[in-house]
Amino acid sequence: MTFDRRIFNFAAGPAALPEVVLKQAASEMLNWQGLGASVMEVSHRGKEFMALYEEVLHDLRTLMGIPDSYEILLLQGGGLGQNAAIPMNLMALGKNGPKADFLVTGIWSEKSYKEAEKYGAAHLAATSALEIFNTIPDEASWSLSDDAAYVHYCANETIGGVEFPGVPEVGGRLLVADISSNILSREIDVTKCGVWFGGAQKNIGPSGVTIVIVRKDLMGHSMSITPSIWDWSKQAATQSMLNTPPTFSIYMAGLGFKWLLAQGGVQAIEKQNQEKANLLYSFLDQSSLYENRVTKAYRSRMNVTFFLKDESLNAAFLAQSNAAGLVALRGHKAAGGMRASIYNAMPLEGVQALVEFMRDFERRA
Ligand SMILES: *Cc1c(COP(=O)(O)O)cnc(C)c1O
Repeated sequence: MTFDRRIFNFAAGPAALPEVVLKQAASEMLNWQGLGASVMEVSHRGKEFMALYEEVLHDLRTLMGIPDSYEILLLQGGGLGQNAAIPMNLMALGKNGPKADFLVTGIWSEKSYKEAEKYGAAHLAATSALEIFNTIPDEASWSLSDDAAYVHYCANETIGGVEFPGVPEVGGRLLVADISSNILSREIDVTKCGVWFGGAQKNIGPSGVTIVIVRKDLMGHSMSITPSIWDWSKQAATQSMLNTPPTFSIYMAGLGFKWLLAQGGVQAIEKQNQEKANLLYSFLDQSSLYENRVTKAYRSRMNVTFFLKDESLNAAFLAQSNAAGLVALRGHKAAGGMRASIYNAMPLEGVQALVEFMRDFERRA
């Protein structure tokens, strides 16, 4: 399938970007800031890039309301890189040796849990594996440790479509949040977690840059084996430029932040995200062909998973939706079914078009 126009792209990541962001990048591609070169081709230590860098951090701080007591690191290696970096930087704070607790609510938090086992005692405090990751275990059933350095959770499970409605209550323990797929999609109180992290490629810009927001007093406790590029305090001391940063990804993330500010910031986009998700879920709930299987209170606003009750229609559904310019609706292979990722850059019209298509498909089925 080829297209001669922009599609509605429901991909989970890398994901759709706002058209104005792409247009601006295109317009500056050959000559950025009158330097006669693109942003990709100039020194990361030059005054133009450094000014951009400061502005990117400032805009993110404004958008998320990040207090000065938190450092913003722009790193490489993605969310998976941080799955190793977090234990190496924090686990040693465990009272009786390196230890961390994990709330496993899907495939991403499970990966984090498994990776951490290499660096210390990873304790499975809760899991919804038996519910095929369609829910969040009841808080009363969590077995949180008293000697763990921190509690890790994934705020939005991208594959299952399960999202914490708020920051979990863990009795004053230190929290670490994977926000790879819902960063900047809803308002959060940054002070509720010690560390927030996620790659840019779902809700901000292209892949290549990973945002790590870390409370300053949590730096400086890394294990001696920690590679320098994963050591938060070493990265903080060099403005995340211990090695060459992903300059183009940072520039694109910066354009994404400007776009979001122009939309009215996180508060405004949260309203739109809620509206988009409501539209899709309320359609699914009244349908006799499609179903969402996630506990209602934990349904993701970003990744809407659904199944066709008659799975023999899956291939036709995917082929026809694709032909209609509604692209990348196939669910993750680990989950099956379908998934519509409706991040910040997906306009309401995209979700309306999807619902119209699905209604029509159901009528014809
Ligand atoms: C995509 C994703 C990751 C992995 O991110 P990479 O940048 O590919 O390493 C981790 N956690 C969640 C919740 C994700 O959605």
